[in-house]
Amino acid sequence: MGKHQKNSPSSTEKQRLEQEVQRTRENIAGLKSFMKSELEPSSGGEDGDAADVASDIYEREKALALICTLEKKLLALEYALEIERVGTYGICESCGQKIAPARLEIVPEATLCVICKAKTERTSSARRKLSLAPRRKMPPDEPK
Ligand SMILES: [Zn+2]
Repeated sequence: MGKHQKNSPSSTEKQRLEQEVQRTRENIAGLKSFMKSELEPSSGGEDGDAADVASDIYEREKALALICTLEKKLLALEYALEIERVGTYGICESCGQKIAPARLEIVPEATLCVICKAKTERTSSARRKLSLAPRRKMPPDEPK
């Protein structure tokens, strides 16, 4: 069936969402193939030294964390697309107000307005925020 290409603002939003889905999928695929190549060092056959292995593990963990974040984002984006299909994209799920277009440009997967988002963040992840904020590598002062 032929698709109607309308130039309405909502189709731009949909395009943006679809582009974002595409980009996120590509990122995940890229990271996954990176992980695979790291897991199977088929080239050479030389056993890397300990430092190499350690940095490999570090890189892999970083990639894994990134994949995790991207997959969550992908789910949120697909959900937003679903909402777009229904026709309520850009409307806050919590209070029913319009979400600022500027916000949707930055966070296309947003389904809450800034105020409601701030409210849920304050209640659900107040502790997580605390542990994320100061990223210091200093060990706690323990006598040795
Ligand atoms: Zn709201």
